[in-house]
Amino acid sequence: MSEESQYSEHPGGWIEWFCAHEDHQFLCEVDDDFIRDPFNQIGIKGKFAFYNEAINMILQSTSPEDQDLEDERFLEVYQEASDIYGLLHARFIFTLKGSAIMRERFLQGKFGHCPRIYCEKQNVIPIGLCEDLKTARVKVFCPRCEEVYMPKKKCADVDGAYFGKSFPQFLLMTYPDLHPKYQLLPDTQIKANFEPTLFGFKIAGKQGSKIKRFEQQLQPNQIITQPIIQSAEQNVLLQEQKQIRVQQQQQQQQQQQQQQQQQQQQQQQQPSKEQNSEHNHKKKSKKKHKN
Ligand SMILES: [Zn+2]
Repeated sequence: MSEESQYSEHPGGWIEWFCAHEDHQFLCEVDDDFIRDPFNQIGIKGKFAFYNEAINMILQSTSPEDQDLEDERFLEVYQEASDIYGLLHARFIFTLKGSAIMRERFLQGKFGHCPRIYCEKQNVIPIGLCEDLKTARVKVFCPRCEEVYMPKKKCADVDGAYFGKSFPQFLLMTYPDLHPKYQLLPDTQIKANFEPTLFGFKIAGKQGSKIKRFEQQLQPNQIITQPIIQSAEQNVLLQEQKQIRVQQQQQQQQQQQQQQQQQQQQQQQQPSKEQNSEHNHKKKSKKKHKN
């Protein structure tokens, strides 16, 4: 089945119908032959009560009707069929054909973008946090900041096990050109030209983003990587902290000098008073003597 047909009217086939569901847009269509192959089913059969029925449902050439979705028995088998399809999907995307389909969808941005602003809408890759079912929903991995996020698209019943923990790394190793470091060569470096403004005017004394400052310090041929960004941000912070310390020390020194000056002034005034008091004493004693 071609990539284009995945979003067509799905006239037949459970798989096409299932993948065309709004919540299932991360999933690709697994080949019938891949699902039928007993080798690919190893380790999955024992986990399900209605395994054979579910496999038959997946391989049906017609899509379910509205009446079927009200039948409890159908829904039980459907739930198992979804999970079986998901586990087979997690194996299919590691094949040559499956990874090629996922590569195209990644390049088209079908899995969404990284929410981090400095990743500049980097396309993300689906990832599961666990290989087991019913542990966590699917998440997305950003190859630029190497973080995992909740997907923006609704994936309410898409289990993380439908993709597995190592799919992003596998995809990036299979297709190294997908890795953002190949797009961050000197000619296409991150350009964060952020200038802080207030009502459209530049703010006096504000230099703009820390990223821009550290870019100016970088050597021209140096590729920007996340650790470098972090270390540069830390350096900027350390420098700011140093400046604050120096200012505090200067203030303390000034205060000490002022205190010393005040003390000296007081000391100079005190002896004159003492002398005056001595004079008074002498005068008093003289008066006493006269009396
Ligand atoms: Zn990112």
